[in-house]
Amino acid sequence: MYDLVIIGGGPAALAAAVYAARQKISFAVIAENIGGQTAISADIENYLGFPATNGPELSSSFEKHISKYGVEVKEGEKALGIQKSGKNFTVKTAAAKYETKTVLIASGKKPRKLNVPGEDRLYGKGVTYCATCDAPVFSGKDVAIIGGGNSAMDAALLAEKYSDKVYIININPELKGDAIMMGSIRKSSKITVFNSSLTTGILGDKTVSGVKFRQGSSEKTVSVQGVFIEIGYIPSVDFDSLTQKNKWNEIIIHDDTEHFMSNLTSVPGIFAAGDVTDVPEKQIIVAAGEGVKAVLSIFKYLGSQVQGY
Ligand SMILES: Cc1cc2nc3c(=O)[nH]c(=O)nc-3n(C[C@H](O)[C@H](O)[C@H](O)COP(=O)(O)OP(=O)(O)OC[C@H]3O[C@@H](n4cnc5c(N)ncnc54)[C@H](O)[C@@H]3O)c2cc1C
Repeated sequence: MYDLVIIGGGPAALAAAVYAARQKISFAVIAENIGGQTAISADIENYLGFPATNGPELSSSFEKHISKYGVEVKEGEKALGIQKSGKNFTVKTAAAKYETKTVLIASGKKPRKLNVPGEDRLYGKGVTYCATCDAPVFSGKDVAIIGGGNSAMDAALLAEKYSDKVYIININPELKGDAIMMGSIRKSSKITVFNSSLTTGILGDKTVSGVKFRQGSSEKTVSVQGVFIEIGYIPSVDFDSLTQKNKWNEIIIHDDTEHFMSNLTSVPGIFAAGDVTDVPEKQIIVAAGEGVKAVLSIFKYLGSQVQGY
């Protein structure tokens, strides 16, 4: 029986792990990967103490920091479910069942899928959800970006450094977001934008060969070797049927100022922190701080000093 199981490997989970280790409570971290979204960020210039770094570098610093405390990370394991029995919980993965008194959900966000034919089959064979990580892989090849917001525009402007032809396939009548990026896209001779266009399939046998979409009444195809899907992020909560969510499927958290507790969910004993919650600021430094706040409340909860919990 652990005191705490932390689900996640991003800044919220790892900051929580440092505090949990220093308090010497028994805990495990279940993480599909280390770093989370931070690991796939390009330039990071707003994390205190690191004026100019990047995702892989910062994630590796996180990893070094937790390894100093000998934190037990079940890396590569995915939480599949949480069951409540009495006051305790069981967190299930494909490999094991972890019994615990408390759970900290810090599972962040994951890229939204298009759900079109070819997307799953060609994932890793030309289909990617991370332009920042993969744009250089498509050097000299033509690519399509699916989306029409800041991430899609950012991806297109990065892709044009490596590709001669970049297509943006945008479901809305126009691109939405940063005016400077929109200006750069208009000026680019390499980028073609298809607005009001619904992607209907990704083509290819062993690797991507094109994208099919509908613009008005006409069906169109562009021939590309890479497809970057940039249509936003959704909370990773598939394994959690217990806590209450808001309309965006984010875990609703609240404070109990009377008992100096924060990051409480609707289920006593389950706490949540970072991008998976309804805290509006989705940033690395905020996620790390939220992870720490949560774990400090978990100590109080475990100490049974809090009446009514
Ligand atoms: C491209 C990009 C650039 C960004 N740039 C910046 C920036 O410059 N500055 C900034 O402050 N913020 C930036 N952000 C936002 C920042 O990365 C996030 O706010 C932050 O990483 C959130 O941390 P988190 O720990 O809450 O979640 P995440 O980073 O999403 O981590 C979630 C973790 O949970 C794991 N996980 C998910 N589901 C399960 C499961 N079922 N079982 C086990 N583990 C699971 C994941 O593998 C991952 O390790 C950027 C984000 C992106 C996508």
